[in-house]
Amino acid sequence: MKHTEFDAVVIGGGASGLSAAAEMSRGGASVAVVEREETLGGILNQCIHNGFGLHQYNEELTGPEYAERCIRDLDGLSVKVFTGMTVTLMETEEGTQLLYGFSRESGMVRFRCRAIVLAMGCRERNRGNLGTPGTRPSGIFTAGLAQRLVNIDGMVPGRECVIVGSGDIGLIMARRMTWIGARVRGVIEIQPYPAGITRNIVQCLRDFDIPLYLSHSITRIYGKDRISGVDVAPVRNAGGEASGAFHIPCDTLLLSVGLVPENEISRKAGVRLHPETGGPVVDARYMTSVTGIFACGNVLHVHDLVDYASEEARHCGQAVLDYLSGVSAGEQLRVGAGRNVKYVVPGRFALTGKNRFYLRSMITGTGARLCVRLGGIEVLRRKLPYVQPSEMISFDLAADEDAISSRFTTGGDETDLEVSLEIPEKEGA
Ligand SMILES: Cc1cc2nc3c(=O)[nH]c(=O)nc-3n(C[C@H](O)[C@H](O)[C@H](O)COP(=O)(O)OP(=O)(O)OC[C@H]3O[C@@H](n4cnc5c(N)ncnc54)[C@H](O)[C@@H]3O)c2cc1C
Repeated sequence: MKHTEFDAVVIGGGASGLSAAAEMSRGGASVAVVEREETLGGILNQCIHNGFGLHQYNEELTGPEYAERCIRDLDGLSVKVFTGMTVTLMETEEGTQLLYGFSRESGMVRFRCRAIVLAMGCRERNRGNLGTPGTRPSGIFTAGLAQRLVNIDGMVPGRECVIVGSGDIGLIMARRMTWIGARVRGVIEIQPYPAGITRNIVQCLRDFDIPLYLSHSITRIYGKDRISGVDVAPVRNAGGEASGAFHIPCDTLLLSVGLVPENEISRKAGVRLHPETGGPVVDARYMTSVTGIFACGNVLHVHDLVDYASEEARHCGQAVLDYLSGVSAGEQLRVGAGRNVKYVVPGRFALTGKNRFYLRSMITGTGARLCVRLGGIEVLRRKLPYVQPSEMISFDLAADEDAISSRFTTGGDETDLEVSLEIPEKEGA
């Protein structure tokens, strides 16, 4: 087994891992990136559509172009890259981190470092997670796998296609399948609202007249060797029996039914996971429940825009630099999801500087207000023109806000910040 040593090792060479690595290296740390694929860039490499980089670069880039920018950002920095290497285990030994990676070229390599950044992205939920009755024929793919087959391997997964789930990957694949000559017979969404961002509903479905069936679900899969069709039914509502079920013949079923952070090795290392995000619980400096292990990007919580993933990774990289130079995290307040909020990341508020938070709404509607309260006292209120679960919301909160600093001058002992979304009753979903 080979041995090597760095200040910090990043697991995953997607947008988040590369952004965190660049930030740490610019700050003077010795950094390695370990990536299991042969090339850097992560999921971006298979996303050949545009729509990336509007916030970070003020330009509309394709996924591979965005990846190239991230890779170019490493130029002149001393980041050591290990591609084709999979990390299988992390351990802590007397305050240092040990990490084991395996590659065909180098065999087993043991990395010793002071900090690890988890940036492994996420994986797709599959048919097993849905539990739809019916036969088990071929022709059923996750949307991301179909995207990889079409965009990287140049294959055609099928000709008559149904898509389950209106998440962004499913929407983008509806358009992509149409472009390769397949007929997309419909997108089936169980929720009463789309799961993907509005831009993708317009550009990927409406522009191609692809029907979107909201509040519908597939109830049976047919086919012997290859899938031959699916039954679709409206979901039962409080009013009683579902009616209006119909059958769609198809030879391909694409599932876009959610992403789950890739947390197998994190779990083995004792990293505590968040019940809502499925990723690690992190404090204000993106440190997990294991000292010295940090997390950012899709492994922490699923991002709809890569720009946010890169931004978060840079904050994480900065926090690792502070940790490596022994800067104390100081006191931190707990941050919780209140009314209409599914989760808030990070889960702690540092009582120094500006804190940036990311959250997901549980409601859809216009004219919402974001409210942050400390011990019942409002410390932040912001108007949001439109909220929906698929569009991540971010906001900044400074530690020197009057209402927060007065907690000390008045001797208050509140420890929890609560983030909620309020929406006028008539406009709520
Ligand atoms: C289909 C699709 C369409 C999208 N469309 C858009 C869009 O139009 N606009 C936009 O802004 N954003 C879009 N996004 C979101 C954006 O692409 C992602 O949020 C972002 O790229 C995630 O980056 P990441 O580094 O966190 O994860 P990833 O890119 O998934 O990178 C994680 C990396 O970790 C590696 N890895 C995992 N486990 C290990 C291990 N054990 N050892 C070594 N390496 C490991 C993986 O191989 C992977 O390369 C889209 C995402 C998808 C999936």
